[in-house]
Amino acid sequence: MLKNSIQVVWFKRDLRITDHRPIFEASLNSIATLPIYIVETDYWKQPFSSKRHWSFIYDSLKELRKDLKIIGQTLIVRVGSVRKIFEDLSLQYNIKYIFSHEETGNKWTYDRDKEIEKWCFENNIFLKVFPSNGIIRRLKSRSDWSKIRNSRMKENLIPTPTNIVPLLKIEEGKIPSKEDTIFQNNYTGTVQKGGRSEALKIIETFLAHRGKNYTYNISKPGISEQTCTRLSPHLTWGTVSSKEILKLIKLKKESLLEHEKKVWNKNLTSVISRLSWRCHFIQKLETQPSIEFNCMHKFYEGLRENNLDINYYNAWKKGLTGYPFIDACMRSLNHRGWITFRMRAMLVSFASYDLWLDWRKTGHHLAQTFTDYEPGIHYSQLQMQSGVTGINTLRIYNPVKQSTDHDPKGKFIKKWVPELANVPDIWIHEPSKMDLNTQKKINCLIGKHYPNPIVDHSFAIKQAKSKMSLIINKDGYRQGSKMVLSKLGSKRIKKYKKKKDNQLNLI
Ligand SMILES: Cc1cc2nc3c(=O)[nH]c(=O)nc-3n(C[C@H](O)[C@H](O)[C@H](O)COP(=O)(O)OP(=O)(O)OC[C@H]3O[C@@H](n4cnc5c(N)ncnc54)[C@H](O)[C@@H]3O)c2cc1C
Repeated sequence: MLKNSIQVVWFKRDLRITDHRPIFEASLNSIATLPIYIVETDYWKQPFSSKRHWSFIYDSLKELRKDLKIIGQTLIVRVGSVRKIFEDLSLQYNIKYIFSHEETGNKWTYDRDKEIEKWCFENNIFLKVFPSNGIIRRLKSRSDWSKIRNSRMKENLIPTPTNIVPLLKIEEGKIPSKEDTIFQNNYTGTVQKGGRSEALKIIETFLAHRGKNYTYNISKPGISEQTCTRLSPHLTWGTVSSKEILKLIKLKKESLLEHEKKVWNKNLTSVISRLSWRCHFIQKLETQPSIEFNCMHKFYEGLRENNLDINYYNAWKKGLTGYPFIDACMRSLNHRGWITFRMRAMLVSFASYDLWLDWRKTGHHLAQTFTDYEPGIHYSQLQMQSGVTGINTLRIYNPVKQSTDHDPKGKFIKKWVPELANVPDIWIHEPSKMDLNTQKKINCLIGKHYPNPIVDHSFAIKQAKSKMSLIINKDGYRQGSKMVLSKLGSKRIKKYKKKKDNQLNLI
């Protein structure tokens, strides 16, 4: 039997049809097109995946399906392993091409991509994989990175195709529900809404008014929820591209009236920088996939991983450490799936330095919890905030200082740690220092209704610092740092590093 020729557009973490090279290239060919999303059951068993991610993807797939229908062919959804699904399709059709985006993901997705590449080669299928954002595959030298990335970002958007040749008579396949048991690691609370229309709405409101106080509020939990862009899950799952966002910001900059420039310019510039950091961090994982599992500087291997205190870990994860600001941040994050950058850094710093927990263990809880889990940023940041890169200044956050700086009246704390709702303002950052009479009067007994601090910060940090110093002072440490820097550092970071080598920053 003569099989119909088809081409496949394989959607992964790029759930849009605008600025999407694979679907655009397919639209130029006059053969039937099968746009497919595969729910990979094994992926959803991995410790970094979670039902919260699926909830966001579910919304996004619904919209992607609508958008694809408009241009001629609905999105086909299948559940199982990519290889098996492609094999089954190739029994029915003559697959001529598979178009997709490069994905900088976990080792799991990397191995799957390699397997598919091999299978396509063996089956004479032309697999065409296009770059995503500013990430450069097989980058020769790190010093070329920013030039290539910036020139890519300046390119025009890839046009949205107006039609693709449909594939008749194919079952579209149900998108598994948000409650499906395929998805593990449940959450309690809310999830940011997915879908392209939502992404466009939030960038519009950000550029219209929300972003006016972006930098001013960026480290204030409780307020930054409204004033940060909140684009991260959209960029992670690809409902918009970074390039699209940069173009919209540029338009906004060009349209500013003289009196608006003072308010907007620094905020917009700050978002532009962060979008560049986004690519910078993802590039690290692209260049060195092992950073998902291994410390960038190998001298840090063995530092914490054999010392897991499960009680500390559980207390941190549940927001029961006895440090109100840490607990409020963690409970808020667990509930909403998002918290601002500084608080993410502080939560990791507390886990890594105060509780001496390994970043690989704490990283999985955070990966499941963040709706925006992006492996490249995630593992690079976890390592930075745990002090194991060998190229960054060690940053140790003081949870009481952070609390007084960013939540002076304890409003955020009282919202997320209701046990402390009646604690007078003067004690809110350190309720364990409250006298017993006050504790009784407000019915909040420390040790009973709310825990005592599980560690003494000053003591814990003293110990952590001396353990870190032992490593930093080992023979060959600086040589190791130089190697990390030349492979994974950016030019700008190199200059910064010269000034601050081995410095310890207490924040
Ligand atoms: C330990 C730790 C883990 C993190 N894990 C993730 C993750 O899995 N996914 C993720 O998207 N971000 C991660 N971040 C970075 C940052 O906290 C989030 O990108 C940001 O809070 C998302 O909110 P927003 O979209 O409102 O960001 P905005 O402040 O509005 O910034 C705009 C965009 O720039 C990018 N961006 C912002 N800050 C950073 C940064 N420091 N590094 C790289 N890119 C940045 C994001 O794509 C973000 O959407 C992590 C930070 C830390 C400290």
